[in-house]
Amino acid sequence: MRQCVYCSDRARLFGRVCADCKKLLACVQELRGKVSFGQFLDGLERTGIAKEKLVKFLHADSDGKGSIQDQVTAEMTTELMNVMGISGRQTAQEVKRIRASVDKDSD
Ligand SMILES: [Zn+2]
Repeated sequence: MRQCVYCSDRARLFGRVCADCKKLLACVQELRGKVSFGQFLDGLERTGIAKEKLVKFLHADSDGKGSIQDQVTAEMTTELMNVMGISGRQTAQEVKRIRASVDKDSD
């Protein structure tokens, strides 16, 4: 049985993602780059999909490019840097590294 690459639930017969995550992905595409992170999360919650699944979806690194959460955070950070006149761009990998070091410090 195929598993969803995001939440590990049963995926569709010919797909890599389940119906719920497909809905979430569409929502991500619609919201990314347009709203704040809080509004982004609100938008995902409005799909009515269980919070537990939402968290799994946001944290999954399905193709090695970083989780959805890190990708979106990186995009928002890059945008903020550009607004402040700082060139360059933040990457999902860098966000992940920063998050990991913050987690370590809080132990
Ligand atoms: Zn799924």
